Amino acid sequence: MGGKLVVGNWKMNGGLVSNQNLLSALVDRLPEDVETAVCVPYPFLAQVSSLLSNTSIGLGAQNVSEYVEGAYTGEVSAAMLCEFGCRYVIVGHSERRTLFGESDSAVARKASAALASGLKPIVCIGETLAERDAGRVREVLERQLAALGEDALLAAGNGRLVIAYEPVWAIGTGRSALPEQVQDALACIRSWLASRVADARKAKVLYGGSVKQDSAAALFALPDSDGGLIGGASLSAAEFVSICEAAGAVSRSSDLGVKRSNG
Ligand code: PEP
Repeated sequence: MGGKLVVGNWKMNGGLVSNQNLLSALVDRLPEDVETAVCVPYPFLAQVSSLLSNTSIGLGAQNVSEYVEGAYTGEVSAAMLCEFGCRYVIVGHSERRTLFGESDSAVARKASAALASGLKPIVCIGETLAERDAGRVREVLERQLAALGEDALLAAGNGRLVIAYEPVWAIGTGRSALPEQVQDALACIRSWLASRVADARKAKVLYGGSVKQDSAAALFALPDSDGGLIGGASLSAAEFVSICEAAGAVSRSSDLGVKRSNG
């Protein structure tokens, strides 16, 4: 827990001109007390890195190779992402798991490769609608977490790896999970981590799935929420700014609550 983190996932969107327009409308408008980042397609890393220099907005990629270097045509290594100034990389997004066949173990190897280079992996986990309907949410989340392995879980416990709960049925569908469904899943993730690492309160656990400016505040205010992974809405500067402002407002009001309760 701690301050909120809000990360935009541009997916396979953008272009040199539209990126410049989007970022110039974001820079200087995001709240200082929220950690923010954008995860962009590989070809735009250099452009976005330069546009974000001297800002507090972090840069991330959307995928990384599990391999270090060599004859892996089409792959991009964690070290290469670091050279372009990336701080984050999304790993195991459900679109990669579903459309590109990434298994739990491949996701774990990618997360390890990212950690070994000093990148912060944002590991996406979440159930399909069929799994939810079958009452298997906890089982799926625990399986995906367990697959990450001990080092990654330790990294989650000390804030070097971020977990994003992204129910597959809520991604890009306009149908966000209800706050109580999100809280149940976030609490399940945190309690599973607590049984394995010393300080699970320090782990950053985000929610992603059709977060919009109208739903953001309620989702960020959930007791186990550390922020959000934002897809479609991160492509609109106005919407992304409002979402980040909602995160800032929630953090400030909870800081005030803590100060009040400490007298
Ligand atoms: C995502 O791509 O991680 C995501 C959460 O997308 P959306 O916000 O569009 O549902």
